[in-house]
Amino acid sequence: MEDIQRFPWLAELNPNQRAAVTYGEGPLLVVAGAGTGKTRTLAYRVAYLVSIGVDPGRILLLTFTRRAAQDMLTRAAAITSRTGLALGNVWGGTFHSVAHRLLRTNAKSMGLSPQFTVLDETDAAELMGLLRAELGFTGGARRFPRKSTCLNIYSRCVNAELPLPDVLGRHYPWCANWEDELKKLFRHYERRKHSGRLLDFDDLLVYWAELATHPRLGPRLAERFDHVLVDEYQDTNVVQARILRGMRGEGNSIMVVGDDAQSIYSFRAAEVRNMLDFPVQFPNTTVMTLEENYRSKTPILETTNRLIAQARERYTKDLWSARGEGARPQLVTCVDEHAQDDYVIARVLEHWEQGTPLRDQAILFRASHLSASLEVELGRRGIPFHKYGGLRFLENAHIKDVLAILRIAENARDELAWLRVLKLLEGIGDATAAAALRHVAAAGYDPRSISTYNGPSSAREHLHNLGLLLADLLETDQLPAAQLSRVRGYYEPLLEKLYEQPEVRSRDLASLEQIASGFRSRQRFLVELQLDPPNSTSDLAGPPHLDDDWLILSTIHSAKGGEWDVVYLVHAADGFLPSDMACGSEEELEEELRVAYVALTRARDYLYVLWPLRYYYRRVPSSGHGYAQLSRFMSSEVVQTMEPKAHGVAPEDLSDVLSTAEQADLTARMRSRWD
Ligand code: ATP
Ligand code: MG
Repeated sequence: MEDIQRFPWLAELNPNQRAAVTYGEGPLLVVAGAGTGKTRTLAYRVAYLVSIGVDPGRILLLTFTRRAAQDMLTRAAAITSRTGLALGNVWGGTFHSVAHRLLRTNAKSMGLSPQFTVLDETDAAELMGLLRAELGFTGGARRFPRKSTCLNIYSRCVNAELPLPDVLGRHYPWCANWEDELKKLFRHYERRKHSGRLLDFDDLLVYWAELATHPRLGPRLAERFDHVLVDEYQDTNVVQARILRGMRGEGNSIMVVGDDAQSIYSFRAAEVRNMLDFPVQFPNTTVMTLEENYRSKTPILETTNRLIAQARERYTKDLWSARGEGARPQLVTCVDEHAQDDYVIARVLEHWEQGTPLRDQAILFRASHLSASLEVELGRRGIPFHKYGGLRFLENAHIKDVLAILRIAENARDELAWLRVLKLLEGIGDATAAAALRHVAAAGYDPRSISTYNGPSSAREHLHNLGLLLADLLETDQLPAAQLSRVRGYYEPLLEKLYEQPEVRSRDLASLEQIASGFRSRQRFLVELQLDPPNSTSDLAGPPHLDDDWLILSTIHSAKGGEWDVVYLVHAADGFLPSDMACGSEEELEEELRVAYVALTRARDYLYVLWPLRYYYRRVPSSGHGYAQLSRFMSSEVVQTMEPKAHGVAPEDLSDVLSTAEQADLTARMRSRWD
């Protein structure tokens, strides 16, 4: 009570949330269902801590995406500003981006070069591919696992802290007879990263964990923070748990929030046990729960409560709504995908006309490719949208090309970046690129030396220009955007020769330059982009203009933590949700159920679940139509809470109802009407 008098905004929380926000000593775990205000509670806690005098620079807030951290800090800043207090520089971001910042400053203490560069997932897979070929594992009669599979296996071993045979046996049984080769491949992968001063995403976490749990370094690191707060804790893995154990120092406090019913990242070795075992790992933990849902109207919760009731194991309880009655969710059977698109777009426009902006409406799907026909249709009708999840802006070849040049300027030992940039030039293939790289290495990795490499005549002028460009980038103190502009000067003439649609790609490069203008250092720009890549150019471009409005399209995984007034889940058919890639085991199916739960619990006022009866498939050697079945998660108990609708569905075929004799009787009677 005394607190509320001092900080009136605490009245905007319910008593349990308030207790969590103002909690004193000791570890705190809040386990609570969707929409109960976990994220809000964290934001208020940051505001509260700063208000009672904690130095913002000694607060560490860990979230699943950069956007989530930014949103929370904006909310917290709005709260503290009401009492005339600035929020200051709280440490906020994803585990990976915080790891990067900490390692960059502490690299030396761990024997790492402070000049390390970070390999994103595509680059890491590329390096696996390169080594796989060097070691002669490809081209034999038995097919060696693909480079991305190699990376996934490696990553699981690292993130789950499990030995290779266990991971192979449990998750990749078809690769089990390659165990020795894989081990060798991973050994070389480690070595090559070390000599190239490269860290992959997993390394960032592992090195942080080593730093944090080291008997002498760990306590020093933990001393840097008074409070550590973590959102979406159900999706962390054992390495992240180890990090937190290390970060828990003598006098600091730690608070994590999560919902076991929303754990959907086990493919990245996330462990819901991490959260449930938190009280064991952190003695004297206080556990709190929240049961009041502030997001969804009652009928939506009736549906989602029944959906998750099908889960075998669950910690959080059924939720009740603080928002009262509303429309029942619709279950819409559509004749095919086009009818589904049609229905969704009609509803989107209807809600928009009734005053719900496009950006408060989201269309969700299990896999990125499932929105293809919808995207075409939205484009045709001129309805703006942004898509989250799926092919990321940075994975475009031309974007990667340009960034590779900046990466060389940052770390001239970055072999992958060199190979990429050199092979853009006419007449340069793998062998010549490797020879050029040896030339650079012989010159002590001075990138400017590339201009003196005696390459094929078709490439000589370009090599010379590349050397000049790199010299320029090395010597400059220009901001990243200006550097990028220089790189474009070199690269755009190549663009026309390399790819189709050079104009479109050139526009992308202009957008990249725009993004770069938000950064002051080249290194920061490169790393931030990699660690939490934007899904679209708008992602990093700051707040949208007021009159800008667009519909949200998102994979369910990328929708985690979000909420919209109107939510449409499309392709709620078996094979898509659950995905047929994840029907192998009971655990996988359980996780798919939680994915469905995450999707439906994003809705505030209106929820539509759609599925097409008939779908078109393209397969070699034939293509054609197949029939779908409603998702098995939409059980009769769930469907009872919904309003059934049909769209574009043909009248029911009654041919099976009557026996042949009865049919003959009917037609005979019709024929003899005038007898
Ligand atoms: P998820 O599990 O989906 O991440 P969550 O538990 O983090 O959900 P929030 O996103 O924090 O839930 O809150 C859901 C919505 O309810 C938000 O719009 C939030 O502002 C609102 N809300 C939460 N608590 C309260 C409250 N005490 N009073 C009013 N609104 C609230
Ligand atoms: Mg949340």
